Amino acid sequence: MNPGLDELPLRDELRGETPYGAPQLDVPVALNVNENPYGPSEAVVAEIAAAVAGAARTLNRYPDRDAVALRADLASYLTADGGVGLGVDQVWAANGSNEIMLQLLQAFGGPGRTALSFAPTYSMYPEYARNTHTNWVLGRRAEDFAIDRAHALELIAEHRPSVVLLASPNNPTGTALDLADVQAILDATPGVVVVDEAYAEFRRSGTPSALTLLPGHPRLVVTRTMSKAFALAGGRLGYLAASSAVVDAVRIVRLPYHLSAVTQAVARVALAHADELLAAVDELRAERDRTVEWLRGVGLQVADSDANFALFGTFADRHAVWQGLLDRGVLIRETGPHGWLRVSIGTPEEMSAFRTALEEVRNG
Ligand code: PMP
Repeated sequence: MNPGLDELPLRDELRGETPYGAPQLDVPVALNVNENPYGPSEAVVAEIAAAVAGAARTLNRYPDRDAVALRADLASYLTADGGVGLGVDQVWAANGSNEIMLQLLQAFGGPGRTALSFAPTYSMYPEYARNTHTNWVLGRRAEDFAIDRAHALELIAEHRPSVVLLASPNNPTGTALDLADVQAILDATPGVVVVDEAYAEFRRSGTPSALTLLPGHPRLVVTRTMSKAFALAGGRLGYLAASSAVVDAVRIVRLPYHLSAVTQAVARVALAHADELLAAVDELRAERDRTVEWLRGVGLQVADSDANFALFGTFADRHAVWQGLLDRGVLIRETGPHGWLRVSIGTPEEMSAFRTALEEVRNG
């Protein structure tokens, strides 16, 4: 017999909480969790299968606890992407950037400490804080979803956060941060400043990455993931770039052998094929720009997006619009500020289905 949750000695702050996650529905057009719609080619699939077979032969042994070969590959990739030379000791990897972020909060947050972010932003941040007993302070972004620097500096002075979480491009708005704001926040913050660049590869040309700020900023952490641009959401590989001191800190809290031999092998194959996997990124960026233009053309408001999704609105009853789209087989995300909806960028066919469904719902 299963006891009810209220019969268990659950932590008080977890009572009434539900597990995080968007509905996983079986629909023809899934545009709700910012996945890459393009799977790997058969050639890459074959290489992944061979690498997994290789790893399988040694599964009686624990994996490399420090994932050194994978981290070296990630360092090379980031060096090429950000233009700043990074060594293996400045890169750390885990099961998705979700785990990276939890490790950062485990190392730098905790009882008596504060994590700060600015809404609207990624809705997992308060959960990392809750799960690590870190005090959570949520400021607000400006009307255009950029950082309101004066407001940010005020909150930093008041709360002295040990962690500031800044998503750039931001989820759910798509907004990339002005690096001058990141710099100002770094200068004012006593703690670590995490720039979550889960969607960095989709940024428009001319938008710099916070990787360029790493030299000379030992408390800056830039997190990335292979879930989006690399089309490896199912592989679960997130990573960070920072000073080697930050990497030393997260290594203290990581579980031993947290990254399986299979995960490490799969991610290395994907990195070896970065050019092919990332080729779709240009297509997705173009499709995003077309989607934003179309939404504006039909009279909707759309936040400027440097990511693989667009936040649009506003609707008096956004749930009705979300449901109307779902009834037509198109699943998007009901998230963000009141009245807004978020659509991930899919294939041209999927976006055409989205446009048709949205027109029907709006004209219905
Ligand atoms: N950061 C942001 C801003 C995200 O939107 C997501 C995924 N939705 C993540 C981090 C986590 O991604 P993953 O754990 O798959 O790397």
